[in-house]
Amino acid sequence: MFTKSQALFEKAGKVIPGGVNSPVRAFRSVGGTPVFMQHAKGAYMYDVDGNRYVDYINSWGPMILGHAYEPVVKAIQEYATYSTSFGAPTELEVTVAELIISMVPNIEMVRMVNSGTEACMSALRLARGYTGRNKVIKFEGNYHGHADSFLVSAGSGVATLGIQSVPGVTASVAEDTLSVPYNNLPAVEQLVAEHPDQIAAIIVEPVAGNMGCILPQPGFLEGLRDICDKNGIVFIMDEVMTGFRLAKGGAQELFNIKADLVTFGKIIGGGMPVGAFAGKREIMEHIAPAGKVYQAGTLSGNPIAMIAGYTLLKALNDHPNFYTQLEEKTNALVAGLRSALGAAGVVHQVNHIGSMMSVHFAEYPIVDFTSASGANNELFRRFFHAMLERGVYLPPSAFESWFISHALGQEDIDFTVEAAKASMQAIKA
Ligand code: PMP
Repeated sequence: MFTKSQALFEKAGKVIPGGVNSPVRAFRSVGGTPVFMQHAKGAYMYDVDGNRYVDYINSWGPMILGHAYEPVVKAIQEYATYSTSFGAPTELEVTVAELIISMVPNIEMVRMVNSGTEACMSALRLARGYTGRNKVIKFEGNYHGHADSFLVSAGSGVATLGIQSVPGVTASVAEDTLSVPYNNLPAVEQLVAEHPDQIAAIIVEPVAGNMGCILPQPGFLEGLRDICDKNGIVFIMDEVMTGFRLAKGGAQELFNIKADLVTFGKIIGGGMPVGAFAGKREIMEHIAPAGKVYQAGTLSGNPIAMIAGYTLLKALNDHPNFYTQLEEKTNALVAGLRSALGAAGVVHQVNHIGSMMSVHFAEYPIVDFTSASGANNELFRRFFHAMLERGVYLPPSAFESWFISHALGQEDIDFTVEAAKASMQAIKA
């Protein structure tokens, strides 16, 4: 069933570290051979052995309208004929910036970069340059890309691989990153009190998606905003996952909370390598060449990436009730899975909001990294493989969110729920 994937993985291991270009793809925590993909359309991915999967990672977020969404594909084809890169400004970059600013509340300027990592790294540098302070507070199990400052108590692949401290990140850099449990305001207050006038920024995933999907408890984000206001700290919302996904204006709109800086990735590039950071003019104008906080990129604002992102964002912007429909799909899947897992007598928690969700096998609520780590990840591993064999591609780690796309139909939801029932029967047998 996975013959060609197995052969490719063997070859890949000889020329690419671990056989993959990003760790979570390697199936390390669930075991087995990663599936090598060939093409994808709508809600489905097809591997090199000809197997079809209903896709619940959707490129870890960008494919919110499904794979190979025709207007995006066409736009890329057209723009590629004009040149794949200029290294000089284009009108398209202005148009994209205007569209983003019109969709997202509370931002006046945006700088495009090439990944979510770059976006978060640059936003932190800006916060440091703006405040003249060094330290940052982040949350255990949150992931903000692989810049040195964020590889402390990080989620996603760092958590999946169980890496406690990352070799290569110097002690002096790590010392400036303070981390506390998610959803724990008193812990943040204590850290701030212990480091007066030293904290440049608090960075948070407004919905955590890198330790499964974990929701902010009522008052948590408001509390962070308040602490930042009282202490002159820059509040950075990492909306790499949640931006343009939870609402047109992301988590800021959904929760009605203002961030000082916002970072984006994934959807903003329509599947091309793009990230962005944005905020009020007063802070953003500290970025070079307007200000002295240096940040640059040979391929930043790349025309192919810009037109892909623009076309996708415009489609989301112009759709009258896109986010309601997307949430209805998620709710239907959540209800189906709960009933399938319940009928099988398996303790489980299904966290969900908008089009993000995850399943943890635990009898208690999953609210932070400690509770996520305590869930039955051996059962998740078996569930993952049973689902994969039945044509459902879940994130290959319990420390990741599932992403629902608009291409997902009721028949796909039914198919997934049936697969979950059959998977549980197979696991129990
Ligand atoms: N922030 C968050 C919240 C993310 O989920 C990710 C990637 N999953 C990043 C930052 C880093 O983005 P990238 O992988 O594009 O560098």
